[in-house]
Amino acid sequence: MKNEKLKLISEEGIRIDGRKLEELRPLRIEIGVLDKSDGSAYVELGKTKIFAAVFGPREVHPKHLALPDRAILNCRYHMTSFSVDERKPLGMTRREIELSKVIREALESVVFLEEFPRTSIDVYVEVIQADGGTRTAGLTAASLALAEAGIPMADLVAAVAVGKVEGHLVLDLCDIEDKYGEADMPIAMAPRLNSIVLLQLNGRLTKEEFRKALELAKKGIMEIYQKQRDALRKKYSEVSLMEV
Ligand code: ADP
Repeated sequence: MKNEKLKLISEEGIRIDGRKLEELRPLRIEIGVLDKSDGSAYVELGKTKIFAAVFGPREVHPKHLALPDRAILNCRYHMTSFSVDERKPLGMTRREIELSKVIREALESVVFLEEFPRTSIDVYVEVIQADGGTRTAGLTAASLALAEAGIPMADLVAAVAVGKVEGHLVLDLCDIEDKYGEADMPIAMAPRLNSIVLLQLNGRLTKEEFRKALELAKKGIMEIYQKQRDALRKKYSEVSLMEV
């Protein structure tokens, strides 16, 4: 779908929000932002704002749902009614149910679930404000919340969307680029393992564009991963200073 009146990328290659084609939105990461959960994180990527909270490993209710050989990973992706321009209906929409599933599947590839049989680990992703890339920023936040909860994982998950807008490959699409662009490809990786744990594509890319888009996503993901690690390091150096 193309909107003829709207110009999303200038002749100079500057995007509608002032970014270069291969530039992430300003990224803010905080860990340990909520008191009641075992682990939590806040991720802000431009105007997209997300909290993630983790509970567990904890007893499964009802008990017969517990698995004898591993923990159950429950994920709930939810957008607040005030997170989008038009008020989102209350309760879980089909889109939120689908995104909860893809987020769970991506996290299942890194969490050592077999270490906690008969328990559940519950991950809540709460979108406070949505401006594109919520599933990816949600994953970035969720893996940090899991790390803060002390859940053993093979790696963190860092994620970003790439896409094609007015013929250009761009990193980290905002809502308007997502809506009017030609393609949108959310990607999540376990960067240390060089493993892709989520890849979706909405729209069309040629083989060559797909290859380039993947490289661009990896570049963005490495930047996000570095910031995730910095945030964890900062949090734990503060803790160890308090203990001295
Ligand atoms: P993602 O947020 O992972 O990019 P989508 O591609 O489905 O997922 O959504 C893109 C953007 O569209 C969202 O980030 C949000 O800004 C907007 N959006 C999603 N759902 C709604 C909705 N129900 N009402 C208005 N805007 C929405």
